[in-house]
Amino acid sequence: MNALSSKSGAAADFLCNSHGFSELLIDANKQREHETSRKEAEDKSRLPALEAAYTCILRELGEDMDRQGLLRTPLRAAKAMQFLTKGYHETVDDILNNAIFDEDHDEMVIVKDIDMFSLCEHHLVPFFGKVHIGYIPNKKVVGLSKLARIVEIYSRRLQVQERLTKQVALGISEALQPKGVAVVIEAVHMCMIMRGVQKMNSRTVTSTMLGVYLEDPKTREEFLMLSQSN
Ligand SMILES: [Zn+2]
Repeated sequence: MNALSSKSGAAADFLCNSHGFSELLIDANKQREHETSRKEAEDKSRLPALEAAYTCILRELGEDMDRQGLLRTPLRAAKAMQFLTKGYHETVDDILNNAIFDEDHDEMVIVKDIDMFSLCEHHLVPFFGKVHIGYIPNKKVVGLSKLARIVEIYSRRLQVQERLTKQVALGISEALQPKGVAVVIEAVHMCMIMRGVQKMNSRTVTSTMLGVYLEDPKTREEFLMLSQSN
């Protein structure tokens, strides 16, 4: 016992104490709560500068900053922007903690029509649409709702659709080490619809294929067929 106790850190605690595992989980949760409150404090401390910046932008656009409807707009816009970019503070590890299960399932798993809202990093206006994800497990599966959370981590940032697609695929790939991952995103970009070319109905489709989806055309086709069907 002494030999074990003299080992430092979490591993030793785990070996010494039959309740060690749950304590470790509680520790991890406490750590996350701590990070969340630190993040909230940081967001708060940045609000005045963001608010001032939005006041400046609106004034330079010719707005009367004393008119009633705009009185709290800079603050609201600042908070909205912090929310829309909160994915920078989140990681796949945070989300998947406790949600990866050992499972002898090696058939394709598909979750389609995941809603996605993001901001185009070139114009700071929204692009949004649907994400379809497929993966072939390699002894590990993840709670299905977590795939939507992974999409959120990367979409709540300033993005381009191509990078978003790749980041979602790589995030899943690194976390689950599956035999393959396929991600397809269909989106409309407000920067195309509201300005410039004003193509009302144009949709942009991007895809990332990893592992067997890349190597085996039949697997890829099966995913594309299943993800497009209603
Ligand atoms: Zn754009």
